[in-house]
Amino acid sequence: MVRTKTSSRLSVSARSVEVRGVVQGVGFRPFVWRLADRHGVTGWVRNRNGVVEILAEGSETTLDGFCAAISSEAPPLARVEDVRWVPARIAGFATFEVDESLDDEGEGDRLISPDVATCDACLAELLDPEDRRYRYPFINCTDCGPRFTIIEALPYDRERTSMRVFPMCPDCEREYRDPSDRRFHAEPVACPACGPQLRLVDGKGKRIPGDPIDKAAALIAKGKIVALKGLGGFHLACLATEERVVAELRKRKHRPDKPFAVMVPDLAGARERFDLSRSEEQLLSSPKAPIVLVKDRGTLAPSVAPGYRYQGAMLPSTPLHHLLLRAVDAPLVMTSGNLTDEPICIEDEEAQRRLSGVADAFVLHDRRIVARYDDPVTRWWRNGSVVLRRARSFAPTPLELPAAVKPILGAGAELHGAFCLAAGTRAFVSQHIGDLDTEEAMEAYADAYQRFKWVFGIEPEVVAHDLHPDFLSTRFAEETGLHPVAVQHHHAHVAATMAEHRLEGSVIGVAFDGFGLGDDATGWGGEFFQCSAERAERLGHLRPVRQPGGDAAVHHPWRMAVAHAEDAGVLDQALALMGDAPHDVDTLLEQLGTGLASPFTTSGGRLFDAVSALAGICLEASHDGQAAMLLEQAALSSATREYPFDVQVEDGRMVLDTRPIVVAIVKDLAKGRAPGEVAGRFHRTLAASILEVCRAIRGGTGLARVCLGGGVFQNDLLLSDVTSRLETCDFEVYVPREIPVGDGGIALGQVLVAHAQLEG
Ligand code: ZN
Ligand code: ZN
Ligand code: FE
Repeated sequence: MVRTKTSSRLSVSARSVEVRGVVQGVGFRPFVWRLADRHGVTGWVRNRNGVVEILAEGSETTLDGFCAAISSEAPPLARVEDVRWVPARIAGFATFEVDESLDDEGEGDRLISPDVATCDACLAELLDPEDRRYRYPFINCTDCGPRFTIIEALPYDRERTSMRVFPMCPDCEREYRDPSDRRFHAEPVACPACGPQLRLVDGKGKRIPGDPIDKAAALIAKGKIVALKGLGGFHLACLATEERVVAELRKRKHRPDKPFAVMVPDLAGARERFDLSRSEEQLLSSPKAPIVLVKDRGTLAPSVAPGYRYQGAMLPSTPLHHLLLRAVDAPLVMTSGNLTDEPICIEDEEAQRRLSGVADAFVLHDRRIVARYDDPVTRWWRNGSVVLRRARSFAPTPLELPAAVKPILGAGAELHGAFCLAAGTRAFVSQHIGDLDTEEAMEAYADAYQRFKWVFGIEPEVVAHDLHPDFLSTRFAEETGLHPVAVQHHHAHVAATMAEHRLEGSVIGVAFDGFGLGDDATGWGGEFFQCSAERAERLGHLRPVRQPGGDAAVHHPWRMAVAHAEDAGVLDQALALMGDAPHDVDTLLEQLGTGLASPFTTSGGRLFDAVSALAGICLEASHDGQAAMLLEQAALSSATREYPFDVQVEDGRMVLDTRPIVVAIVKDLAKGRAPGEVAGRFHRTLAASILEVCRAIRGGTGLARVCLGGGVFQNDLLLSDVTSRLETCDFEVYVPREIPVGDGGIALGQVLVAHAQLEG
């Protein structure tokens, strides 16, 4: 690097500038270089421990403009949190240079952008026959491409990614070294001459000759199922328009009902298949390229999302997906390459073994996937996106905590496993790992945890875990040997919402979900608290009913219908409604009578199950939340009437009595009222009753901020109704957006609670 001293000019000043935030791996240094060039600023820029340092010389006015532009014009993927400067000694630089990165071990922020979908400039090159990367499935630049799926350690340099085995060719090297090039320091830069290559093999591992993408597209067009090595793991792809093919995939994947996501070639293709708002279009085509839950137009095979009006749509996120979707030119089911709820496959061999009975062919390549990332699932809600599954492109962007914490691990729950590693004011919530009840999932969890520790340089001293001793995440927490802090499940739900919104003091917490162990050792899931980070005082809950067979009830919603109907004294009418579907009713009634293997629960999720089964919408469920989701889908928005409900005070706590609701529902259905009308009325009733309890709590405590948490609030209809009712009555309502409202976000709350309890 050349630094020429010139004679000092009178008007020249010098500033030492520090820029913090997501400023690595996003083309920040070339951006600063171009900015300096435009403003006529001299000096240098470099990365140091994740902070961008700039030495800038120029007139005061020039420097003011330059410093302001650093945040106002930052590259699309950067997140500038802070630009600080102090006057510096004038050295008299003649030019502006980009220096090598410095990493002094340990200290400092280590923020990198997550993986980003192919940018428009790269897409144009990908489709340009004159370009040297024409149809090259690994094209990328500083604005797009893989990041955390290839990073082994920080600082982020090619040698610490899975690209290190691909030495750059002279052409790529030139782009990589040129500050004016879009690929300046694009660590995964590659081209057909030097980078990773695709290959196609059949189900037995035999290579299929020819162009892998054209051949794979031809197989898919013929109705075959193809496994595709994507960014953070394998996908299974097949035609989304052919019922026979989709049904076959369901059979092979052992996934009877859970909706599949659908990838369409482009926005025009998305508009053709889905009824999109402008906001949804923007979310779909954002650089995160998430799955977005949108309204279906009914043109896809029924098996794609049986019984659902809303489906998961996404656009291609990598050049490989762009090429394949263009070659097939039809919407494709694009689902995680795994069996049922196991973690997504990432290794070629592993995929070929585990998916051998599922995929007819495999599109493989020789770039290793370092970390597993599923596709993220989002929804547009009111004025922004809500994350339902935090995965690729979202994790591990940190959240800013309301207070600085010592290094803490939040171990999360058991279903929708995800952990949170926090230190200082940064909380890194992991990607969605899956239900932790398989060996593969626990391995993936442990693996991701190790990686987070290395990459972010955080060595936790404390582990916050769920109160439930048998959750596999709790067992994992115990095995770490760290100082343990047990956190009640629903307290953690509310605290997660508080943490995301950086709320301090006390709030009204409303946590509705399927199950969490309560302080009194019974099952909770319809809870009202006066809640601070440190303490949650239970002020109200749903009326406890028995959950016959415990956990097993989750897959048999009709059992909860029987339990609620029995509790409400309308058992015979309810059984008549559900017809002959419930087989072992007698055993069930005996269980209810004796309480054998039938613990009490206040679960909101189980109440949804009961109503869904009573209405004949879902009596048996193959996946978690199915009965509730189908009930929401069935609900008619025209249904405005509410059922009667009652709130009594018992032992100083408000108990929301579900019996009048169940009685009214059974009566309505017996009269022949449409299930959609009943479902709608039930949603309205629950929203009205939540408002009622919140008003009573405000009356007693003066609190007016309400934090919602728990998987039940994934329900758009309920969430929207509860929120608008509360807001109409002058409550401030907080809902998580960056982390899932369900168990996938709970680890963040565990961290906040453990911190507060250790401080307190
Ligand atoms: Zn690009
Ligand atoms: Zn090259
Ligand atoms: Fe939960």
